[in-house]
Amino acid sequence: MPCEEDTVMLCCPYCGWPDDDPVTTVSRHRSASGATVWTRCVCGSLQTRVRRGGAFVVCARSRPADHPAASL
Ligand SMILES: [Zn+2]
Repeated sequence: MPCEEDTVMLCCPYCGWPDDDPVTTVSRHRSASGATVWTRCVCGSLQTRVRRGGAFVVCARSRPADHPAASL
């Protein structure tokens, strides 16, 4: 199940880990729009998830922490 850039990303673009199976939950925050959850992927990429409907969706993600930006 490859990631397709034209559609909503359902897995990590760096390592391909599925977004619906968060590896590490870093922190949770309440916000005006509901809740925000920070998770970290197996590759070290930090993901920001917001509650949309009944599910948390990734709205932003950082580069993998273990890899220098120059390698991408
Ligand atoms: Zn990843």
